[in-house]
Amino acid sequence: MNDSAFHYVDGALHVEGVPAASLAEQFGTPLYVYSRDALTRAYRAYADACAGRKATVHVAVKANSNLAVLNVFARLGAGFDIVSSGELARVLAAGGKASYTVFSGVGKSAAEMREALEAGVKCFNVESIPELHALNEVAKSLGKKAPVSLRVNPDVDAKTHPYISTGLKSNKFGVAFGDARATYREAHDMANLDVVGIDCHIGSQITEVSPYLDAVDKLLDLVEQIESDGMSIRHVDVGGGLGITYDDETPPDIGDFVRTLLAHFEKRGHGQREVYFEPGRSLVGNAGVLLTRVEYLKPGEEKNFAIVDAAMNDLARPAMYEAFHRIVPVIERKASARLYDVVGPVCESGDWLGRDRELAVEQGDLLAILSAGAYGFVMSSNYNTRARAAEIMVDGERARVVREREEVKQLFASESILPD
Ligand SMILES: *Cc1c(COP(=O)(O)O)cnc(C)c1O
Repeated sequence: MNDSAFHYVDGALHVEGVPAASLAEQFGTPLYVYSRDALTRAYRAYADACAGRKATVHVAVKANSNLAVLNVFARLGAGFDIVSSGELARVLAAGGKASYTVFSGVGKSAAEMREALEAGVKCFNVESIPELHALNEVAKSLGKKAPVSLRVNPDVDAKTHPYISTGLKSNKFGVAFGDARATYREAHDMANLDVVGIDCHIGSQITEVSPYLDAVDKLLDLVEQIESDGMSIRHVDVGGGLGITYDDETPPDIGDFVRTLLAHFEKRGHGQREVYFEPGRSLVGNAGVLLTRVEYLKPGEEKNFAIVDAAMNDLARPAMYEAFHRIVPVIERKASARLYDVVGPVCESGDWLGRDRELAVEQGDLLAILSAGAYGFVMSSNYNTRARAAEIMVDGERARVVREREEVKQLFASESILPD
């Protein structure tokens, strides 16, 4: 939990200067609440550590793509990392610049490439030879040269959950390390591509620096080979993936992480190289919570259940990755705690938000699911025809709705029944 943005005052959880309970009363539950201050401080930790170096921060939009969240970063001068043309549209709508935006993703369509080229994105992070050919064709049809970086798979173990580990050989992402040098030669020979960089992204929720240092070493080895082949590489993009504290993890501090990586470039004689970062989770994860109300308490022989009004459709991470989120009372009770599984109303046994949690709660109480700012709302769905939660941004004493709660009638407004 971000200590100063989310804190208790006389037993009542506050988000900056606003009591969480009053937000739930005013806007209903389930409710995503973000802190502008927490977003700002996380971004500044990256930006400050980059100061004085040719290093830039590209916010990974997929972690939290709410326009107000993106706008907070855009105002701070951030670049962005997108994985679809939909995310490009969001960046532009939020006041971000295409020229500060890199386009990642393993399956970009020709239509997406066209939109991104026309908008003038900074770089395409390309993941395969067929994609290079496709991009070359699209650029040719527009009479442009597409700026290209190759995502190389450095085959390092990020020591994280298999679903969020992306830098191993066995994984669908990137060009195999052993094929990279030849692939660069191919890219170089394509008339409508402009080779400008190299990138990797080794996974997510990484809590150690060593996998990054291994990845940087491998990328720099390649850069040296590629440049000896007569191409020049302007930037090295180290991806995102820095972890946060959900439970008792101890990831490196953002500033220390950035400084350690940049020092490593220097140590390798690449201190002048441009470095890109693509953080997602570490910017937004601990800047958001999900507020939910206890509908029923259901004591059982083996387990007690606290059935809440948020569910796997609102926050998929526990069901999807068995992810842990701390769950705390919005108003602390003096009563003694019992062990509960905190579950939602969706008709799936996988619909749980926390297991074996010690809580002093009663029916009608509010709970806060912490660290919900990353891969929270963006992964939400309408499963069970549940309208998605509202999103709120707190800024000091003020709270603003930054996404209205959906209404059920919207959910099937674009459906139709057969005429006969
Ligand atoms: C998801 C992703 C990121 C952000 O990852 P986090 O773990 O949220 O920091 C960065 N770059 C790429 C290419 C990604 O796919």
